[in-house]
Amino acid sequence: MPWSILARPVGALAIAAVVAVAAVALGLPVIAAAMLGALGGTLTSIPRHAPTPQPLPPAPEPPVAEIDEVIEAIGDPLLMIERQTVTRANAAARNLLGQHIVNGDVRLAIRHPAAAERLTGPAPAAGEAAAEPLELVGIGTHERHWEMIVHHLSGSVRLAQLSDRTGVHAIERIRVDFVANASHELRTPLATILGFIETLEDAGGDAATRSRFLKIMLGEARRMQRLVEDLMSLSRIEADKYSAPREAVDLPSLVEEVRAAIRTGLVADADRIVVAVADDLPAVTGDRAQVSQLLHNLIGNAAKYGRPGTPIRVSLDRARSGMARIVIEDESEGIAPEHIPRLTERFYRVDPSRSRALGGTGLGLAIVKHIVERHRGRLDIASEQGKGTRVTVQLPAAS
Ligand code: ADP
Repeated sequence: MPWSILARPVGALAIAAVVAVAAVALGLPVIAAAMLGALGGTLTSIPRHAPTPQPLPPAPEPPVAEIDEVIEAIGDPLLMIERQTVTRANAAARNLLGQHIVNGDVRLAIRHPAAAERLTGPAPAAGEAAAEPLELVGIGTHERHWEMIVHHLSGSVRLAQLSDRTGVHAIERIRVDFVANASHELRTPLATILGFIETLEDAGGDAATRSRFLKIMLGEARRMQRLVEDLMSLSRIEADKYSAPREAVDLPSLVEEVRAAIRTGLVADADRIVVAVADDLPAVTGDRAQVSQLLHNLIGNAAKYGRPGTPIRVSLDRARSGMARIVIEDESEGIAPEHIPRLTERFYRVDPSRSRALGGTGLGLAIVKHIVERHRGRLDIASEQGKGTRVTVQLPAAS
């Protein structure tokens, strides 16, 4: 058979094979399947009764456009490397490492000793397990974390794939910090309680001293109790994150309940609460206990941080978005703008000793944020220094 007849199926075969290999290596099953389908079709289109097989000419190079299209379409940075030289790099790789990397030495493109070794060292022998992904820090910007996987393709071509792991590391960091902060918050009152127990044991002391010590110990134990309750609330709210709340929530009666609860605790504060309910307040579907906790935390903060004796205004109405709107305003020295974006972080406090002295755990607003998120609502904190703070929560109206 003349070469010209075989050349077309063989050329298509080579392209499909290379793109299929690249697609498999890149984890693109759809492209791989399409290419393998094309491969099957091409194979069946080769005449079965071909005369005596002739040696095939070397497979033509796959058209550059096809491979470039595949790698360019991938969001992760990708580099093709041949004998230490970057032969191709997609847009994500060029944006990360510089436009100049194509046709340059890969060790200059990714300046990282472990990466250089992985990209230029010997390939794993046949049957040997592929190397674990490599963690790289500081490529692009200092704080970014990447995971590099090197695929060994035919013809000693290597394909380096970088996946951005910065978000995963940030979450891990938050988790580690949270455990450290929670332990620290619990250790301090525990140490105080232990210290007083030892003092009482050693010295005994007169009745007045004992009573004073016991009062301090009770205060510290209550602090631990509040903290444990808040930690448990947080984990319960997080566990329910994806289940939509379904109860009918009557906001005005909930506000009254919170006011009554505050009255039993701190008489003076309950009388500071001024409630205004608009006629157009829509009905809300939510988690009654969680909305009650949200009101408790926000009204409690206004009472704690507002100037003694000043009013705490709670208004309920319909927002322009159609959602039910709860606004809680206090009169206080306010919060400096740089703190506002961080207030909903766990254990973030503007003035830690003031918060502790007022019985704060540093978790109140983090709990509020999670409750609002679970209800698919919105939270907005605005504060004017010297005037006061206004917290607005919007909760979706019942449909
Ligand atoms: P805490 O238990 O410390 O009150 P929160 O999470 O409820 O914890 O609030 C975090 C911090 O935000 C508080 O420590 C306080 O510094 C600040 N804050 C919250 N609400 C107010 C408010 N209404 N006025 C002034 N500062 C506030």
